Amino acid sequence: MEFLACDNIEFKSREYFYNLIPKQFPHIKKTYFRHWYNTLFTSSHSPYHNGYDIIANEKDSIIIHGKFHYGDFRKDLEDEWISIFMYNFNLPNPNWVYITRILTDNDGQIFHHFTKDKTLKNGLYLFKFIVEGDRTSADMYIRILSEKEDYVIFDIDGTLTISDNELIKESFYEFLDVHYKPKAYKDAYKVVNYYKDKGYNILYLTARPSWLISNTLNWLKENGFPFGILHTNETGIPSTYADIYKSMYLKTIISKGANINYLYGNALTDISAYKSINISHDKIFIVGEHGGKSGTNPIYNYTDHLCNLISLSQNSFL
Ligand SMILES: [Mg+2]
Repeated sequence: MEFLACDNIEFKSREYFYNLIPKQFPHIKKTYFRHWYNTLFTSSHSPYHNGYDIIANEKDSIIIHGKFHYGDFRKDLEDEWISIFMYNFNLPNPNWVYITRILTDNDGQIFHHFTKDKTLKNGLYLFKFIVEGDRTSADMYIRILSEKEDYVIFDIDGTLTISDNELIKESFYEFLDVHYKPKAYKDAYKVVNYYKDKGYNILYLTARPSWLISNTLNWLKENGFPFGILHTNETGIPSTYADIYKSMYLKTIISKGANINYLYGNALTDISAYKSINISHDKIFIVGEHGGKSGTNPIYNYTDHLCNLISLSQNSFL
């Protein structure tokens, strides 16, 4: 049998996650916070802002949603101006377009409803939210589906990171002002890039709460993972019922036109959620102690798994 040197495979999209960030962002005039206490607080605390990625279709009513907070306790930024810009990747010569400015509410949130005359067509859009007072920002991606589009789903904790404890360690150390970076499984990023290069869309579907969006995006970027839509748990459903949250979301995006090809996870709740969408069990890959349960495919390590994927795809062309 021919030996495949999988370790040496190069992926076009390895840097893709943030190379997707387009042309230089327009210069924004420096302004001031409306409230002196926000000036004081933000000057001494790190920003943790969220944009909430969306998968939708052309008939959907689109609501832009951001949340802005600072510091380890994620104090909300209340009653301050946020500027919204849009970048439409689907135009031949895209550019940044100013949309509007909105004041944050009592929870540090903004909502902007895209009215019917401004519906978004099929494709990928990036919204950038700029806090006018200090020019910190958050990004939000919207993927509008028209026909069926292919997706591969990845859980994050214990699936791409080496255990669920990595997230707990990161949060704990953050309070001590120590930077702990969750460890990724060796070559996990290559497997995600493999699918990206094959033309699949990636969805990172995690039961992490939304206040961890900025940490999660940084972690994906620093560990070589490709661009994908990120969906965190905003439902209030506790993580012990992550299967319900994940199942509901998967069924929602299927109804909008997502065609789910493969799913990766590590927990029994992942198996339960993934089986609920009536996909063949051999399309479900489970890392760790639950691998192989309920007819799923176990992953012992991502290096061998990648070799298998490449080998299978090469054979399918023979
Ligand atoms: Mg997990």
